[in-house]
Amino acid sequence: MTLSFDPKDVSLPIGHFIGDRLVSAKGAIQMHRPSDGQAYADCPVADSDIVDQAVQTAKNALKSSNWDGIRPRERLRLLHRWADLIEQDAVNLAQLEAVSSTRPVGQLVDGDIAVSIEQIRFFAEFADKESSALVPTDDGSLGMIMSEPYGVVGAITPWNFPINMAAWKLGPALAAGNAVVLKPSEMTPFSSIRLAELALQAGLPAGLINVVLGDGMTTGNAITSHPDIAKVSFTGSTRAGSAIMENIARSGIKPMTLELGGKSPQVVFADADLDRAAAAITASIISNAGQACVAGSRLIVENSCVEPLVEAILRGMADIKPRFTWDAASQYSPIISERQRQRIADIVRRTVAAGAECLTGGDFMDAPGYFYAPTLLAGVDEDSPAVIDEVFGPVLTIQTFEDEEEAMTLADHPSYGLAAGLFTRDLSRAIRLTRRLQAGTVWVNRYGRSRDHILPTGGYKQSGIGKDLGREAFQSNRKSKSVLISL
Ligand code: NAD
Repeated sequence: MTLSFDPKDVSLPIGHFIGDRLVSAKGAIQMHRPSDGQAYADCPVADSDIVDQAVQTAKNALKSSNWDGIRPRERLRLLHRWADLIEQDAVNLAQLEAVSSTRPVGQLVDGDIAVSIEQIRFFAEFADKESSALVPTDDGSLGMIMSEPYGVVGAITPWNFPINMAAWKLGPALAAGNAVVLKPSEMTPFSSIRLAELALQAGLPAGLINVVLGDGMTTGNAITSHPDIAKVSFTGSTRAGSAIMENIARSGIKPMTLELGGKSPQVVFADADLDRAAAAITASIISNAGQACVAGSRLIVENSCVEPLVEAILRGMADIKPRFTWDAASQYSPIISERQRQRIADIVRRTVAAGAECLTGGDFMDAPGYFYAPTLLAGVDEDSPAVIDEVFGPVLTIQTFEDEEEAMTLADHPSYGLAAGLFTRDLSRAIRLTRRLQAGTVWVNRYGRSRDHILPTGGYKQSGIGKDLGREAFQSNRKSKSVLISL
């Protein structure tokens, strides 16, 4: 069976999903398909009244369903049942995702969707395994640390891996006993709505997942400042993360998890397996056309091996074909919007004007959609726009070093610290430098996440606060209460 489809045949769920139904709403933001640039739908924008309705629905659902009080194994069973239904609906979900987003349909069923299912199952397993603790206290008293859910969690997600980002937020929050009001990106809301529909079909209490559509300024602000949202979990740009912190500080203090931008280095020593390094580096910047928070966008390479490494990367970047995301043969993603494509072009233009040499790419691709060619920029320095700014596109810069000290100085970005790659066969050096790299994740002789969801992900510096995935994501969806009982 081919996964290719005609986007006109896909029926899009448009509206806010509140309680047990899709509430239709008038569209306010015109949406364009990244693959062909066609306007195809209008996304509604939930104002503070609609957000309040979603929050009250979530609160009532928690109360009437006793979601945190029911047997933990029942919570676990329902979450697994939800994962089963997502699995059965994978082709439909893949179409909803491929129409609106940059994700090629051929990479969704066994990729993003399969991973999201695994992650929901991973978090479901915590429901009956994490417990409160008895702690040593004075004679004559009993000390306990009780763990409790927050209540209603406000989740806000970006457009680059929509279904996966929703799973990162919904899985741990629900397993930990919370209800969620989720705002997906206004450019890619459909798979999140479908997830909520499937949760209901799976038997999760109505109102546990509510999805409100809209932009950051109106809907996002209404979520982060709502007094009954007890915790905010956000993934997106550092700029928006900073606006959210400000909004939360102004409207009432609440905990937040912020998964933000990155500008991750890939440090390659001459003793590395260069073919393997080149393959990992190329895949990292080509995957989703570089629109990944952990895209390894700064190549930092030892002088003596620049030539063979760059040649191998150039080979990997050649012959990339732009195709519609709904074509099963598509391997390369378009850029999410024309505005973002222009921004990428502007950063490349300014970097070249400042003296960089463009070894390949540096231009739009000959296709109807918003495609930008894989681009390699040499002759940059630490102040070049493409080295400093998160491009969020298929643009890789090359800097060179003589020794470890220089490599570490170049790797250290002034504000970002999300991930880093290190390629060397010298084990002592790998461990020594892993300790020095200022990043929330370090990959050695590989680049990119595995399907080991126990490894948390999150940033150092302005790349974020707190973690998604891993045990930490579950725990960050619960608060602790200290109890002391006199005996
Ligand atoms: P964005 O910050 O523009 O938007 C992300 C989400 O936040 C959207 O839903 C948007 O509507 C909302 N938003 C924007 N401003 C807001 C505000 N003031 N208040 C509340 N909500 C607001 O980011 P994007 O362009 O959608 O996504 C790309 C960014 O996301 C990149 O910077 C990327 O690095 C980052 N990202 C980080 C991770 C991670 O795990 N660290 C993962 C994926 C993406």
